[in-house]
Amino acid sequence: MRDLEPEEFAGIELIRARFLETARIFDFSMMEPSPIESLATMEAKSGPAIRDEIYLFRDKGDREVALRFDFTVGLTRYVASKKSLRMPVKLATFGSVFRYDEPQKGRYRHFHQWNVEVYGQTDVESEAEVIEFTARLFEALGLVVTIDISHRKLVESRIAASFGSADSVLVADVLRAIDKTAKKSRSEILREFTARGYDAARLEEVLDFSSVVGTPMEVAERADVSELEAWDHIVDLFYALESRGVGNARVNLAVVRGLDYYSGTVMEVFGADPAIGALAGGGRYDGLAQAFGHTDFGAVGVAGGVERILLAMREMKAVPQPEISAVSVLYTERAVRGDAVRLVSALRRAGLPVSLDLAGRSLKKQMTAASRSRFAVIVGPAEIRKGKVVLRDMKKRTERPVTAEELQRTLLHLLRT
Ligand code: AMP
Repeated sequence: MRDLEPEEFAGIELIRARFLETARIFDFSMMEPSPIESLATMEAKSGPAIRDEIYLFRDKGDREVALRFDFTVGLTRYVASKKSLRMPVKLATFGSVFRYDEPQKGRYRHFHQWNVEVYGQTDVESEAEVIEFTARLFEALGLVVTIDISHRKLVESRIAASFGSADSVLVADVLRAIDKTAKKSRSEILREFTARGYDAARLEEVLDFSSVVGTPMEVAERADVSELEAWDHIVDLFYALESRGVGNARVNLAVVRGLDYYSGTVMEVFGADPAIGALAGGGRYDGLAQAFGHTDFGAVGVAGGVERILLAMREMKAVPQPEISAVSVLYTERAVRGDAVRLVSALRRAGLPVSLDLAGRSLKKQMTAASRSRFAVIVGPAEIRKGKVVLRDMKKRTERPVTAEELQRTLLHLLRT
C-alpha cells in the first residue's frame, strides 16, 4: 500500500472539501461505516468470489473479517439494522477503502472513495438525485465528464430475446461479454465465446445492441428498444435529468457495471482520458437490503475514485499547488531569533498561516525558502530597537517598516481580501 505524500494528500483534501460542500447543498448526512466487516456481510453483496479481491483475515477472536472494499455494503448494513430510521434516508461518506487489486496506474490497494446513497425510494427521482449530485460535484472540481447510463433489465431482456432464453447463467455470461467490449476487440470476444459454444450471430446481435450510445431519442432510432423491459424507465430518467439541468448524461448500453448486485439503472462516469478508467460508478441495487434480513427498501448510489479523479484533474491542470504559508517570518541573525519566534506565535494565534525557519539558516537561504510566500516579515536588530519589523510584499516587491500591531492588522486585512 502507498504512503500518501503531501502533494497527493493536498489533492485528496481538496476533493474532500468539494464533496462535503456538495453533500451539504444536496442535503446528504455524512457518516462513516465501520472500517472492518464480517466476511458474511462482505459476501452478501457479491458472493464468495469477493474473497479474492479483499483484505481478509482472522482476528484474535477467530472471526473471519475483512477491511471494507467500498462503503455501500457498510451503509446498507447500517440502514437495514436501524429499523427506526425514517425513509428516505440520504447518506454520504468519504474515506479509505482497501482492495487486493494488482497495483497499476489508477488502480491501488488503498484508495479513497466518495459515496452517496439514497435509501427507501424506488423511483426515477432518487436516481436523478444521485446523478445530478455527481454532475454538480464534477463541475465543482472543474472536470468535464460524461455520465453513461444504462439499465440492467433492458440489456438482460435484449439478451433473453436474442438467445431465446432468460437462463441466469447464460445472461450473466453474455453480460460478461458486453463488459469486455471496453478492453477487448469484438473478434477476440467472439472467438472466446464461440469456442465455449455460443452462437456467433446471436452474440453479434447483442454486441451491436450494446454499442449504441446517445440521447434516448437517438438510441430509439438506432436500436429496437421500445419493446424491451425498462426502456420507459430510461426515458423518464432522462426527462428528470433534463429538468434538473444535467446535460452531460447519455445512454450507453455497454455499461453493465461488472456483474455485481445491481438490479436496475447503472451508470459510469468518464473524463477526457479514458485510459484512467471510470472516475465514478453506481446504480440501483434494490436486492441488497434483503441480504441483510430486511425487506427490500430500495437503494441507489454512486461512488467515485478520489485518486483517479485527482489524476484526471492533474491532466487538465485543474489542481492548485499545495498551499504554502502565506507569510514567512525571517530573522537576520541569531540574536533576534527570540523576537521572531514571539512575533510568529502572536500572528499564529491571530489565525495567520506563518512559516519560520527552524534550522538557523542564513538570511539568504531563508529568503529563497520564502520566495513562494505572499509576504515576508524581516526581523533585524536595528528595526527591533525602534519597535518595528520590515513587511515585504513578495509580489509587488515593495517593503516598509511596521510595528507588531500594524503588521498583524495589515496582514489580516490583506490576506482576507
Ligand atoms: P466500484 O466500487 O468498483 O464501483 O468503484 C467506484 C470507483 O472507485 C471507480 O469508478 C473508480 O473510480 C474507483 N476505483 C475502483 N477500484 C479502484 C482501485 N483499485 N484503485 C483506485 N480507484 C479505484
